[in-house]
Amino acid sequence: MPKDIIIAIDGYSACGKSTTARLLAEKLEYVFIDSGAMYRATTLYFLQHKINFNRMDEVIKALENIHIHFEYNKETKRPDTYLNGEYVEEEIRSLAVSECVSEVSAISAVRRSMVAQQQMMGKNKRIVMDGRDIGTHVFPDAELKIFMTADLEVRVQRRVLELQQKGHTYIDPSEVRQNLLHRDYIDSHRTDSPLTKAADAIELDTTYYTIPEQVSIVYQWAMERIQGTTNGNL
Ligand code: C5P
Repeated sequence: MPKDIIIAIDGYSACGKSTTARLLAEKLEYVFIDSGAMYRATTLYFLQHKINFNRMDEVIKALENIHIHFEYNKETKRPDTYLNGEYVEEEIRSLAVSECVSEVSAISAVRRSMVAQQQMMGKNKRIVMDGRDIGTHVFPDAELKIFMTADLEVRVQRRVLELQQKGHTYIDPSEVRQNLLHRDYIDSHRTDSPLTKAADAIELDTTYYTIPEQVSIVYQWAMERIQGTTNGNL
């Protein structure tokens, strides 16, 4: 009897987590949640409303006014992010947001609020969620946990290509590299649920894989758990 499971995909910035998670969810007919988009939307709100990240009263009040939801876009076959009913999918990927998102994500009140919403989204299982603390903190009992890595230069190239495909004309690879390193450092060194590989996560180095190869590997791992042909992680 196939069982419904939770799949947690964590790892450093630009390893292909979201793309893999989205395509895997599509194949399994599961819900895909990009938890990074939630932290990005929160950061966008903070920037738009000039919230002082160091003032907890301001942060907590702002969090009460932040409502994030996703809507499936049939054309792009991706979920679009909405902040208080407004489409923000493009804006949350801007450099201005990327530059501050890790500082905002390190605030405990922000994490508590996001994690509570993410746990609600997974209460019926059948979900693939990617992020930094999904297997360690959001769903510590997830049936399949994957920790993705890739060579830094490959990650830079992939992010540059992604930005170019989105219509950005001039992209400075050294600026992209700087941002990835900056975020990885803060994400791995914050006190509250830092980015780390869960003891029972399977590591997947995507440096030499294409997207279809990555998806095919994780799909096989997922099916083994859904069909009960393996007990827990490797
Ligand atoms: O996944 P993405 O790169 O869009 O995430 C943006 C940022 O959001 C990360 O650099 C990290 O600071 C934060 N994040 C987090 N916890 C998650 C997902 C993302 O702290 N579960």
